[in-house]
Amino acid sequence: MPELPEVETVANGVHARVHGQTVVGVWTSNKPQTFKSPPEQIAETLTGARIERVYRVGKTIVVDLTRPDKTAAQFLIHLGMTGRLLVSPPETPVPPHTHAVLSLSGGRELRFVDARRFGRLSVLEPSGDDAYTGPGTEPLQIPLPEFVALFRGRKTPIKAALLNQSLLHGVGNIYADEALFRAGIRPRRQAARVTRAELARLREGLIAVLTHAIQLGGSSVSDYVDADGVRGFFQLEHRVYMRTGEPCLVCGTPIRKVVIGGRSSHFCPVCQR
Ligand SMILES: [Zn+2]
Repeated sequence: MPELPEVETVANGVHARVHGQTVVGVWTSNKPQTFKSPPEQIAETLTGARIERVYRVGKTIVVDLTRPDKTAAQFLIHLGMTGRLLVSPPETPVPPHTHAVLSLSGGRELRFVDARRFGRLSVLEPSGDDAYTGPGTEPLQIPLPEFVALFRGRKTPIKAALLNQSLLHGVGNIYADEALFRAGIRPRRQAARVTRAELARLREGLIAVLTHAIQLGGSSVSDYVDADGVRGFFQLEHRVYMRTGEPCLVCGTPIRKVVIGGRSSHFCPVCQR
């Protein structure tokens, strides 16, 4: 499942390829799960619109649109589990499970492909300042005092709080485990009891691991924005995630796994307290 860095990589890759172009035609599969806005509304909103910017908010890809003689609009893409955005020449065969194709003035097509159909497409016509901001706070921009305040009085395990999308948006299982390892905090610790100094390390660890993954993604973006849609995402070299029983890279102790809130959590029992 794509997490924040993968979504940011895709958004940046698509932006570089399509911004400034106009949508000249829209095809949709009309599969009901995929369309959070009615497909006809999506087609009507997008046709004739100019793509100003493509960027990430949480785990949503946002496309800012301007339209002649109409208000500005936004096209929102949530990749779900298996969603892909591909920028392809029209002669490239359309992959199976393609749910939307935007024909662009530059001659190429922006295609949304999603085998498992957990991805979602919608359009917004924001009036004034109510452009899409998503739930929660952006983990890469949050100042330390606000970060500390998120966990104050929370009785849930710190791991569960990190995954709570109404607190921080876009942080998934892999990066939560990796950030907790870097900060030396056990995933089961009660969030309210994690000290300010530890939370400062956690924020730094989270930003470091997300930023590193975004940099890795940047070097391989062409593999999945320009390709046929079957390639997987880049893999960060994990220090704890899915390394149960393998030696900790710092102290050699076998990595342990516990389940917290239904999600597997991986940690080093010596390095994390
Ligand atoms: Zn260790």
